[in-house]
Amino acid sequence: MSKHEAARTQLEQQLARLLERVGQIEGDLRQTHDRDWQERAIELENDEVLKGLDDMTLGEVRRIRGALGRIANGTYGACSTCGRTISPERLAAIPSALTCLVCSSERQQRNS
Ligand SMILES: [Zn+2]
Repeated sequence: MSKHEAARTQLEQQLARLLERVGQIEGDLRQTHDRDWQERAIELENDEVLKGLDDMTLGEVRRIRGALGRIANGTYGACSTCGRTISPERLAAIPSALTCLVCSSERQQRNS
């Protein structure tokens, strides 16, 4: 049993839940729009919300897949920016975390 077995299990469960959600959202998006224009406008608005959620969900799916890939190749738990070990507390809270707390907060400050 590898030392990241618990994280791997957690990530795989998260991934399964997310993919289920993506499937549901895609089902919603495929519903037909043959009603009068007013109802259609409301539906389009809802679609925007669904698409936003979809992008977010797909982003998360990519992150989790990336984390699973890093577990497989042995680089999981190392910060992708500075290379230092990401604290076990942080990985427990966010198993798909790519960077350590320092790099993550630096990035957030740059973006704001
Ligand atoms: Zn770092």
